[in-house]
Formats: sequence, C-alpha cells, structure tokens
Amino acid sequence: MRSFIPTEGYSGSAFASPRQRSKTVLVNGGAGFLGSHLCERLLERGHQVICLDNFYTGRRVNIEHLLQNARFQLLEHDVRQPYEVEASIIFNFASPASPPDYQRDPVGTLLTNVLGAVNTLDAARRSGATVVQSSTSEVYGDPHENPQRESYFGNVNPIGPRGCYDEGKRSAETLFFDYHRKYGVDIKVGRIFNTYGPRMRLDDGRVVSNFIVQALSNTDITIYGDGRQTRSFCYVDDLVGGFLRFADAGEHCIGPINLGNPAEITVRDLAEIVLDLTNSRSRIIYLPAVADDPQQRRPDISKARKELNWWPTTELKTGLTRTIAYFDKLLAGKEVAEAV
Ligand code: NAD
Ligand code: UDP
Repeated sequence: MRSFIPTEGYSGSAFASPRQRSKTVLVNGGAGFLGSHLCERLLERGHQVICLDNFYTGRRVNIEHLLQNARFQLLEHDVRQPYEVEASIIFNFASPASPPDYQRDPVGTLLTNVLGAVNTLDAARRSGATVVQSSTSEVYGDPHENPQRESYFGNVNPIGPRGCYDEGKRSAETLFFDYHRKYGVDIKVGRIFNTYGPRMRLDDGRVVSNFIVQALSNTDITIYGDGRQTRSFCYVDDLVGGFLRFADAGEHCIGPINLGNPAEITVRDLAEIVLDLTNSRSRIIYLPAVADDPQQRRPDISKARKELNWWPTTELKTGLTRTIAYFDKLLAGKEVAEAV
C-alpha cells in the first residue's frame, strides 16, 4: 500500500486550540476499541486522520460515523505488510489486545507486533514521522513488584499462552528504542494498563465486558481462579487523553511511560460492583484459573504525572456506569458507536 498524503497544511477547525497545529496523523488499529476513540479525539482537534486497519478485531461500526468527515480516511491494510505514508505522527495501536483474541492466532499476534513495529518504524523513518507505540502492562508479566514502575524488567513466560502477546510487545519496544538509537526516529512509548469503556465488543472476552454482559443478561459471572488477583482499570477517555499528551510533546524520545489508573481492585470485588450497578440476578461462579494469569497489576504513574502532566480522573464506578449504559443499548440491538 502506498499512500501519499500531505504532512501539513490543513487549515484547522473550530476545535483545534491555537497552540495545536493541524497535522496528518495515522492511527494503526484505528477501527478498534481504543483506536476509534483516538481517531475521534484527533479529528476534534482539527487533524487529518488516516485510520489503518485489517479488521481482525476492529469493527466498521466504530468508525462509520467518521467516514463522512472530509478529514478522515480509512485504509484497509495489514501492518505485517510494508507501507508508506506521509504523516507527522503515527499511533501504532494495531494488535489484538484481549487474551481470547490474541490466543486465537498466536503466531499472527506475535508477527503483528514485531513486523508491525518494523514496518511502522520504517514508514516513520522515510517520512520523518513521530511514532507512538501502544505497549502494555503485559511487558511486566506476572510481576514480583507492585506497583510496577517502568524500571521493572518483568516476569514473562516466553513459552506460555500469553507469550505471543507479551513477547511481541516486548520485542516491539526493543525495536522502537533501536530505531531511535540507530536511526534517530522520534519515538514515544506508552505502557497501557487494563482499559475499558464503550466500544468494547460484546464478545471481547476481557473481564469488564464479560462481567457487564453477564450481569445485564442475568447469566453466571465467570471468575477465573479464586478472584483474588488484582487489576487497575482505566476509563477509555482518560487513557486516550494520555496518548494525546504524546502528540503535544516535542520531538524527543519519551518513555516507556505507564498509562493507567492506579486504583487497584480484586477481580472478585469488580464482580460485586458490577452486580450492584446492574441490579443483576446473576450468580458468581468460579472457573479454573487461566495459565500465567498475572496475580497483581497496578501502575506507578509518577513518571506520567511528571513528564506528561497526566493522570486519570474517572472513578471506577463512574466509568463502569457509562460502560453499562453502552452495553445495555448494544444488547437491545442499537448501534451506539456514534453516541459514545
Ligand atoms: P482492539 O482489538 O479493539 O483493537 C486492535 C485493532 O488493531 C483492531 O481494530 C484490529 O482490527 C487491528 N489490528 C489487529 N491486527 C492488525 C494488523 N495485523 N494490521 C492492521 N490492523 C490490525 O484492542 P484495543 O483494546 O483497542 O487495543 C489497542 C492497542 O492498545 C493494542 O495494541 C493493545 O495491545 C494496546 N493495549 C490495550 C489495552 C487495553 O486494556 N485496552 C491494554 C494494553 C495495551
Ligand atoms: N477474568 C475473569 N473472568 C472473565 C474474564 C477475565 O475472572 O470472564 C480475569 C482474568 O483471569 C484476569 C483478569 O480477569 O485475572 C483480567 O483479565 P482480562 O482478560 O480482562 O485482562 P488481562 O488478563 O490481559 O489483564
């Protein structure tokens, strides 16, 4: 695929603040959960947005409402194949993120992360773009440190069922820093901790969507293991706000930086909150634990506070209430991508 799109020059919109120059921004994985929210926020800022996606887990409905915007362009492409694009910034969000999604095609997942990084960094090198990588808390594996700081090297099982994703993301980080050191590519790397919100799929398989869908349909809430494992859940708007800070930063290497909400909660407590917020009649059932499931996960976000002046502001119950409203409509058969 070759796409030659002017890097600068769009005259801006009413939404762009005077400080923000309009840019051409490529969002790989832009039809997915996080990517579609990011595309929307970039358009609101007056940028030209190119959404690149192969629709492995992304959905057209997530971006349908953006297609009529003259500043939005959709390119169906697989990041495992080389591409060229003229853009000021590339956000590389192309990768399945839910364990069932990435374990369905483990080899494809690893290659998406490794070849996707190479092809994206090569495209950036040719066009002079800044590249922002969506890395993950999974680089810490099942951590022996809590909270996790960026300096922690992690505890990943390279040959387990999560390895395709964890090692793919770790390799991608290595490639980002090598392209920066060797070729001077301007890079930013954000390590995303569990993020939830509207536009997750009904069958996404991650814990927040599973519990909400189960609670709303009064079917059993499935806890894997004893439910004492912890996660720290970040609402999508907060997370995307963190990535926009990368776009605002100058041309210097930033990261890796943890982006997430430090409020840690057990999976069992999450189930109780969802039951409460939905007035559900669902029962909680306990299923066998999944292999290599991290037992604790909580970001130390002092680096994000200091370097990006960023921290999340959405309380878990507030974010869950919005997400429940979204799934409620989805279960009622309404398309809600535009409204969220
Ligand atoms: P998602 O599955 O909704 O989105 C991923 C998008 O990438 C989809 O649109 C999919 O079709 C696309 N994609 C996958 N493989 C591709 C390929 N080979 N070529 C082109 N497009 C491809 O997941 P998400 O939650 O929106 O995650 C987006 C990014 O953020 C991923 O890179 C993920 O690893 C990272 N991340 C997300 C979370 C989270 O909690 N949501 C946590 C850590 C990291
Ligand atoms: N989980 C669960 N029930 C589900 C889905 C997930 O108990 O229906 C657990 C899972 O075992 C893990 C936590 O919830 O301990 C978060 O899982 P998720 O797949 O959302 O994200 P990740 O494991 O990648 O952090």
